[in-house]
Order: sequence, then C-alpha cells, then structure tokens
Amino acid sequence: MSDFPLPSIIDRDALQGCRALDAANLGFLFFIGWLTVPDIRARIEQIIEDVIRRNRGEVEFHQAVREVVESLEPVLRKYPQYAEHKIIERICEPERQIIFRVPWQDDRGEVHINRGFRVGFNSALGPYKGGLRFHPTVYLGIVKFLGFEQVFKNALTGMPIGGAKGGADFDPKGKSDAEVMRFCQSFMTELYRHLGEYTDVPAGDIGVGTRELGYLFGQYKRITNRYESGVLTGKSPHWGGSLVRREATGYGLVYFVEEMLRVRGETLEGKTCVVSGSGNVALYAIQKLQMLGAKVVACSDSDAAIYHKEGLDLETLKQLKEVERRRLRDYLQFHPSAKCLQPKELWNIPCDVALPCATQNELDAEHARTLIANGCKLVAEGANMPTTPAAIRLLHEAKVAFGPGKAANAGGVATSALEMQQNASRDAWTFEYTERRLQEIMRRVHNDCFAAAEEFGHPGNYALGANIVGFRRVAEAMLAFGVI
Ligand code: NDP
Repeated sequence: MSDFPLPSIIDRDALQGCRALDAANLGFLFFIGWLTVPDIRARIEQIIEDVIRRNRGEVEFHQAVREVVESLEPVLRKYPQYAEHKIIERICEPERQIIFRVPWQDDRGEVHINRGFRVGFNSALGPYKGGLRFHPTVYLGIVKFLGFEQVFKNALTGMPIGGAKGGADFDPKGKSDAEVMRFCQSFMTELYRHLGEYTDVPAGDIGVGTRELGYLFGQYKRITNRYESGVLTGKSPHWGGSLVRREATGYGLVYFVEEMLRVRGETLEGKTCVVSGSGNVALYAIQKLQMLGAKVVACSDSDAAIYHKEGLDLETLKQLKEVERRRLRDYLQFHPSAKCLQPKELWNIPCDVALPCATQNELDAEHARTLIANGCKLVAEGANMPTTPAAIRLLHEAKVAFGPGKAANAGGVATSALEMQQNASRDAWTFEYTERRLQEIMRRVHNDCFAAAEEFGHPGNYALGANIVGFRRVAEAMLAFGVI
C-alpha cells in the first residue's frame, strides 16, 4: 500500500548492505522458523510493559520507547534473530546511568544543590555521544528519552558514535556568567571521570551553548592535565570547535526538508514557514530557510510567539536571543507592525511548512488539526520529540509529509562527529567543506529513511524508515558483539 504517490528517484545503495545481511540470515530463519504476527505483537507489548514497570513515572521515556518499538514489528518478522537475542530488550535498558550532586555558590555566597545526570545508552557503534541539557525540567525520564532517541539518530548519521544524553535541573537563565561558571566547574568535577574521547563525548543542548561548553572544557582540561579536544563537541572554533557546528542542526533540518520536498517535485522557494523556538536550532533553521527563498513569518520562545507577516528580521532576532539573551517580545520594539501571541498560537498561523524547534510535546493533536486545516504540507522536527503521537497520526492520515527529529535534526550530531574527526587529525576544515559534508550526510539520511519505508511497504513514512534503519545498524553491531 502506498501512503504517498512519489517518483522513484532514490539511490538505493544504502540498503545494499542490509540486503547482503538478509541472505546471510536465511539459514538462521530456517532454523528458528518465522514468528507469527500475534507472537510478535505480544512480545512488543510485553517489552513496552516491562519498560514502563522498570522505569516508573518516566513518561517521556515510555513515549519514546513506544514510538520506536511499536514500529519494529515488520523488522522482527523479517529478522527473527533480533527477537531471539533480545536485542530490543537490551536496547531499551541503558548501559549505564550516572546521577550526582552538583553543589555551587551564587554571587551572594548562598549554596545551591542541583542534580546532574549522564546516561550512556548504547555504545555498539562508537563512544557515547549526546548533548547536555541544563533546564529546570530535567530529570531522569527526560535524559533517558533523549538518550534513547540519540541511539537511533546517531546510527542514522552513519558515523561511528553511540548514544547518550545528560544534563542537570539547573536553569542558566537569569544567572551571572560567574554563577554559570561555578556551576559548570562543579558539574564537570564529578562527570570528568566518566568521559573521554573514546568513552563518552558530550555536547550542548537546551541551556548549554558555547559559554557553558567553554567552562566545562576548561575544568576538564584543568583536572585531567590533558588538552583532549575530542572530549566535548560544540566547542567554539577559537579553541578546537568545528566551523558549521553552530549552524548544523538548523541547516541540516532545512536540507532534510529540501529533500522531502524534492521527492514531491517541489522546492522551498516562496514557501511560507513557521518555526517554533528562537534558540540555536530555530535561528539557524530560519537563516537557511531564508537563504533558500522561503518566507519565515513566525517564531517563539517560552514566553511569546512573534508573527511578522512580511517575514522575520533575522539580524534583530539573533541580537536579541544570541547576544543579549532577551525575551522575544522585545522584537516588537524594533518591528511594531509584528504581532505578539501566546507561544502555542504559533501553530494557528497559516503556513506551507512548520518546523517545531523548541522542546518535546509542543505540537499536539489540536495544533496538527489546525495546521492541516490551514493547508500545511510539511512538518519536520528540529527539536527532539516535539510532536505528540496523536499529532503524528493525524499528519500521516492527512498525507502531510512528516520528518521525525531523529532523522531531520541529525545534522547537529553528525557535525559533532565531523568535529571529532578534525580534533583527532589536529585539523580544521573550511566552512564550505564542512557544510558540504553536512549536506551530503543529510541527503543520505533522507534517502536511507525513504528507501527503508518503501522497502517495508509504507512509502513516504519517514518515521518508520528512520526507526528501521537506525535500529538495524545498532542491532547488527550488538549481534556481532555477543551478549555484553
Ligand atoms: P536552546 O536552548 O538554544 O533554545 C531552545 C528554544 O526553545 C528557546 O528559544 C526557548 O525559549 C524555546 N522554548 C523552550 N520551551 C518552550 C516552549 N514550551 N514553548 C516555546 N518555546 C520554548 O536549545 P536548542 O535550540 O539547542 O534545542 C532545541 C531543541 O532541539 C531541543 O529539543 C533539543 O534537544 C533539540 N536539538 C538540539 C540540537 C543542537 O545541536 N542544539 C541537536 C538536535 C536536537 P526561552 O528562550 O524562553 O527558553
């Protein structure tokens, strides 16, 4: 059954490796026989129930697991060895979880205590890799959902990196630079012993940008007595970072969108877009959309959304959010004709393309209905899990093209892996070369997801394709390593 009528212009080389494996697995199939569909469904339900029971209250983690595991039914049918070796059960259990106290003093000398986390989820394909989030909502369930997603995303990039995530329930907003520095130093004083360029390589995420990474790296360097550039990514290009890393997630998202449109015979030229958030991902998505001829009319922060019908003024946005760390509503001081809305009202604005780039579960079923009614053709996730499962179902039913975060926002971590390559070879690449590599990777991620969705009978279902490709790459490595 075809979900979308699409021209067949996809390069299928990427699946050749998987097909070779199919042949090798045939003998095994004869040995254990096919599992029946009810067997597999029951097994999947059991896995999800066990995850919920063993990780009580971690609702975001349950949601992320359900989304992936339920989609793997056709994979288990075709490759029963994954069920036989309990690959899904093993992938759902993090390899290690570290929780630690982070004491620090504010500028008045008062002591504060935060909680730090690092979850090394899976290292089958390479060292643990994934960002650190500093936000008051951070708890183990958020870190685990992000780490779980990261496993498949990192596999999709085709780079040798495992999956991880970390962070703290610390809010850098409203803190002085000195307070943020003391917090980062305390955080790293505990975490450093678990890191290393061959062990675990954190990066930024919400609330962790180049300022925080600078303080974290400085403390790591000081207490280990090593200038180990490859231990963190997202560093400033002034001290070991890669050009394009700052832009990579937003740019990569737009390259992915370009590919989604290309298979439908369309381009971004003249399309009206809305982008939620106004942080790292959102700002550089807006920039690339504008470079490719789209008109971006709205963005948001946690306090407000801005609707500027004539098109957003990116320079003002960057000055407000990146440089001065101000609220988005201050944009109206520079553009009084723009409108200030509630953050969620962003999704009521008519658009061709909607890119949620702020946070998890920000686009729900009601928003999806409004987007569909207003003629939106494409939704792609810059943030991690910003679209609720009910909203995704509605978008699929309405044939709105949907790009899941683990594929569409993979450009950030892919460029982090390029940063690791540069650090390992003591090299620094040009902006143009690095951006070309990013673009090639995003095209490949798109084509791999597209081809897998087609192979498993759901053309155009990128969410399914991404889960299948990411899962199979990790699963094959885990099978090869035995029960570890
Ligand atoms: P930032 O901290 O730079 O920006 C987050 C933005 O989202 C801010 O503008 C913030 O507003 C806004 N925001 C937060 N909550 C809400 C809300 N409830 N409603 C509206 N806006 C909100 O983070 P990033 O841009 O780095 O990350 C954004 C998302 O992208 C996250 O889900 C992250 O995990 C994901 N991601 C990031 C990558 C990266 O390379 N940075 C890579 C892959 C995924 P305010 O300023 O008010 O806090």
